[in-house]
Amino acid sequence: MFRGHRMIGVACVLALAACAPAGTASSPSPGTPAPTAATPGKKTPEPAEPPGAKPRKGEVRPIPRTGGLPPVISSIPTGRKVVFLTIDDGWEQDPGFVRQVRDQRIPITAFAMRDAVEARGTPDESGGPARYVGAGKWGYFRQLRDAGVPVENHTLTHPNLRLLGYPAQRRELCGSSKLIEKEIGTRPTLFRPPFGNYNTDTLRAARSCGMSAVLLWTATVQPGGKIAYQVPDKKLRPGDILLLHFRPNLARDFRVLVNKIKRRGYELGDLQAYLAAAQPR
Ligand SMILES: [Zn+2]
Repeated sequence: MFRGHRMIGVACVLALAACAPAGTASSPSPGTPAPTAATPGKKTPEPAEPPGAKPRKGEVRPIPRTGGLPPVISSIPTGRKVVFLTIDDGWEQDPGFVRQVRDQRIPITAFAMRDAVEARGTPDESGGPARYVGAGKWGYFRQLRDAGVPVENHTLTHPNLRLLGYPAQRRELCGSSKLIEKEIGTRPTLFRPPFGNYNTDTLRAARSCGMSAVLLWTATVQPGGKIAYQVPDKKLRPGDILLLHFRPNLARDFRVLVNKIKRRGYELGDLQAYLAAAQPR
């Protein structure tokens, strides 16, 4: 699954880390140990396995497939206190965030959207003024890949898919998968529809473009690390999938969020391992 790992990406990470200004908002918090992985002259060992909690035997209930189409998944069916982090689009490409994810081995899944990654259009600045829009383009996502982050499909242009016919939807989905395979070296297996909007044509297109599931979410994370729940009792639940965005101050918001999740007694899960357990072949 992680055949995309390549040592070549480490050199880029080191170069970027060396160029980043000291004392920025994305610097490690006090008390954080110096990142050993970025020590010059020291080779970074390949991680033995992707980060995150793995499902125990019999823990995950199966997700049914209907009509041979990929399932639409908003949460992982488990009773264990584990949640999953997903990050969408790709506008703001803060090198501090890659270091954070790599050095702390935090499991995330990225849903890359071409126009954001390539900085075409209006960036998402809802977290503050942008500093790194299009800074590394696809190279940024190769660094994330080298930090153990799966890079998945979120269309080329972020349309409302419900307004498009099947051929146009298929162009968005297959075009994105093809581009990610070319740039990252692995073909996406998950699709996240922009705005969470989809219809049967979307599921057909996802199947046709080789994707195994359509992934939605149960809560979104706002600037400042605040969780906006879609359920009335405002509690994390086992199996929740949280949605964040590559926007300014992500590194800071992310720290707040991860601490909050751990304080509530939750672990961060390896989404791919859980999905594999939930979709027996
Ligand atoms: Zn999006």
